[in-house]
Formats: sequence, structure tokens, C-alpha cells
Amino acid sequence: MPRISKARQRAHAAAIVELLAVDYPEAECALHHDSPFQLLAATILSAQCTDERVNMVTPELFGRWPDPAALAEAAQEDVEAVVHSTGFYRNKAKNLIGMARRIVEVHGGDVPEEIEELVELPGVARKTANVLLGTAFGRNVGVVVDTHVHRISHRLGLTRHHDPKHVERDLMDVLDQAEWTSFSHRVIYHGRRICVARKPRCAVCNLRDLCPTRQDVTRPRKLIDKKTMTAPSRRSAARRGKRSQ
Ligand code: SF4
Repeated sequence: MPRISKARQRAHAAAIVELLAVDYPEAECALHHDSPFQLLAATILSAQCTDERVNMVTPELFGRWPDPAALAEAAQEDVEAVVHSTGFYRNKAKNLIGMARRIVEVHGGDVPEEIEELVELPGVARKTANVLLGTAFGRNVGVVVDTHVHRISHRLGLTRHHDPKHVERDLMDVLDQAEWTSFSHRVIYHGRRICVARKPRCAVCNLRDLCPTRQDVTRPRKLIDKKTMTAPSRRSAARRGKRSQ
């Protein structure tokens, strides 16, 4: 990415934000939840797991242990059985119970609203804390950098870093703070539908005019080479034949 002025970077980011808002006006967190506690638990479960899978598991989890007080008393093996299909189930069950216990013991049963307190909870790193603060409490304290945000921020030239902490800092630098949470939600939608990891669908992407890494639509292969009047596949076969002689 060539070095450009901060003003131009901010203008570039603002143009991207504008188009994302047109494409995904209703983008929101895909994890089902009815309270900050539920969102926190669902986000812990979403590590290395799809949101769809987490949403299959949380109705039973929240039905059996609806609040921090109940989950703090749960038996590890019971929670493990419920969250088993989300992967890393032993660790996740341990973190869920530990998170609930700390909320009860240190925060009187209420999920804390400060990032410094959130990252002290078992299983909660900065990304999870940002999800919670932005989505459950409506506070733009940071930018959630998940795999989609990481990949697409690079493709769109919004960062040159690879460490998620640095990517987040770059995004916080160029995006208006009011946009931090909605930007992440919208980029995640974009990453699932258009700018997918393996083969981005640049031909149908509304951001393509702003994207320094857009891939041009591939031209149809030539059917006949004018010089040899042979089809490419036949020439390749002929070459392979010569080599094997
Ligand atoms: S143009 Fe292509 S690479 Fe760029 S954001 Fe769109 S889909 Fe992704």
C-alpha cells in the first residue's frame, strides 16, 4: 500500500463506510442474545466456531443457566455437554463458568461496562470486549477485528499491519468513532456474501472502484490460437506428448 496522507486515508475510509451503509443498512451482530450476559457467553462460544452453530447451542445454555448466578453454580461436565458441538468445549465450559463466577463475585452479578474490567473475565480478550461494548452497551470503544475485518481491511487498503491490535489501531485512526461498531458488522456481512476469503466476488462488489486489490473479471479463454489454429487444450496435450517421447 503506497503511503498516503491521513486526510486521504480518512476520506477513503469514509467513502467505504458510506457504500457499506447502503449495501448493509441493517447489519447487526448475528449471535442471538437477549442480554449483555447472553451476548458475552455467545461470543466466548464463537471462538473458532460459526455463529450459526453457536445459535443452535445457546437456547439450551441460556434455558438451563439464564444468568451469571445460575451459570456460576453449574457443573463443568453439564456445561461441556451442552457446548460440545462448538469445539474446544472443555476450555469454553471452564471459561463460561469462570466468567459467570467473576461477574457474581466481583461485579455483583452485572456484566461490567469497562473494557479493563471485561478483559479480566476468563475467556474475554479485547475482541470479545469490543463486541460486547459496541453491541450490548452501544459504546464505540474499539473496532472488532475478526477474520473478515482483518482480511477486508487489507484488501481495501485500510491497514498494512497483520497483528489484530495494530489493525484495530489503524481502523480507529481512519474511521469516525461513531462508525466503529457498525463498520465491523457491515464488513462481516460483506465478507460472508461478497468479499469471501478464497475468491472475492469483485465483479458484483459495490466497493470495487475504491478497492486497490480488486480482481478483474477474468476474460474468457481463447478458444483457438490464430498462429497454430489449435485449441489451447490440444496444444498442451501435444506438448505433453512431445515431452513423453
Ligand atoms: S473489490 Fe473484490 S477484493 Fe475489493 S472489497 Fe470488493 S470483493 Fe473484496
